Amino acid sequence: MDKQQEYVLRAIEERDIRFVRLWFTDVLGQLKSVAIAPAEVESAFEEGIGFDGSAIEGLTRVYESDMLLAPDPSTFQMLPWREGENGVARMFCDVLTPDGETVRTDPRAVLERQIARVAEAGFTCYVHPEIEFYLVNRGTDGRITPTDHAGYFDHVPGGTAHDFRRHAILMLEQMGISVEFSHHEGGPGQNEIDLRFADALSTADNIMTFRAVVEEVAMQSGCVATFMPKPFVGQPGSGMHTHFSLFEGDRNAFYDPTAQYQLSATGRAFVAGLLRHASEITAVTNQHVNSYKRLWGGDEAPSYVCWGHANRSALVRVPNHKPGKAQSARIEYRGIDSAANPYLAFAVILAAGLKGIEEGYELPPEAEDDVWQLSESERAALGIGALPTSLKRAVGAMGESDLVADTLGEDAFEFFMRNKRREYRAYDAQVTDFELSQFFPRI
Ligand code: GLN
Ligand code: MG
Ligand code: MG
Ligand code: MG
Repeated sequence: MDKQQEYVLRAIEERDIRFVRLWFTDVLGQLKSVAIAPAEVESAFEEGIGFDGSAIEGLTRVYESDMLLAPDPSTFQMLPWREGENGVARMFCDVLTPDGETVRTDPRAVLERQIARVAEAGFTCYVHPEIEFYLVNRGTDGRITPTDHAGYFDHVPGGTAHDFRRHAILMLEQMGISVEFSHHEGGPGQNEIDLRFADALSTADNIMTFRAVVEEVAMQSGCVATFMPKPFVGQPGSGMHTHFSLFEGDRNAFYDPTAQYQLSATGRAFVAGLLRHASEITAVTNQHVNSYKRLWGGDEAPSYVCWGHANRSALVRVPNHKPGKAQSARIEYRGIDSAANPYLAFAVILAAGLKGIEEGYELPPEAEDDVWQLSESERAALGIGALPTSLKRAVGAMGESDLVADTLGEDAFEFFMRNKRREYRAYDAQVTDFELSQFFPRI
């Protein structure tokens, strides 16, 4: 038993914890949870807790279904919405085979493998997300309507949004997740909460926790939170712009005070990798049929593959960092949406960027204009390509990608594409209200 494990056992005693939830994530990004009694925690650390892996999306094949959950004691936290007597705590888990080997399809393991590759190249990665979501009311007829009519940065006196964000942020902070920034977003009922940077694995864990907290607080406030990429026609979608930087020891490898926008050669090559492989990774960063309604629905979602400085139409942005603060130099990937599996999405983004560094890709010139205003031929002349316009095309691009196959590992790669093909085929078979309204005979 190591120190952290001992700490967890002591905390369980002292804080009157009656249930310990073991959390892990399926390949599609759904949080899974099993509660164990406090008396089981010691053996969970020593031997793991057995479960049927074949019942979890994408984890394993039926003939090798026995799996173990190995809780990570550094992720031990109380659940603030279950405080008081008979408390509940949680730990994230790694998924192991009965022989104690890592299960390669566990999304946490996919990201851990990629982080190890980044470390072999000499870097530590820091990440922070800006998470957008909608708060909606659901009527008895099932129709959803936004909880308010406010817009970007609006102060809504007495509105649900303020109280909601305050409540959610306090809960996140109680769970050790720091919040940097929060505000009303552009759409009615739309909000954004930005987490403070952390290493890539902790940030992915934090995003899973964030979704659980926000859904919980919404329920307590009598509304529903949705991370769906485009819940309303004609309103902005919910993106999850994510900022990345690579450090070599204490030094920010993306910072060079003499370079354009202080973005170092390493940073430029990383961005070049993101652009070159953007279409291949999009099925993972934007995994639903609905994701493409955000990407191609305007309102500052990126549709074209280019980079810029202040340019809000670019896929990758090099934001201003605080003057003289080398530590905060970073790049922002704006494609990813709020419904992505954060482990897999960070893994493919890091793989694309690292490839750019290792192969020394050249960064094309920045896009200076609003790329949506340019004509097709102007974009072609500037070498600006487009992101896939549908899940089907994105899966097609993923299927050709050695980079994504290597990053996810063969089983997760094949499972993911099979699942997504099923999703777009089921979607394509629907007859929608739009079609009925357009094509039904008017009699
Ligand atoms: N909602 C926009 C998106 O989908 C982002 C808007 C913003 O943060 N400026 O990417
Ligand atoms: Mg923001
Ligand atoms: Mg935003
Ligand atoms: Mg942003």
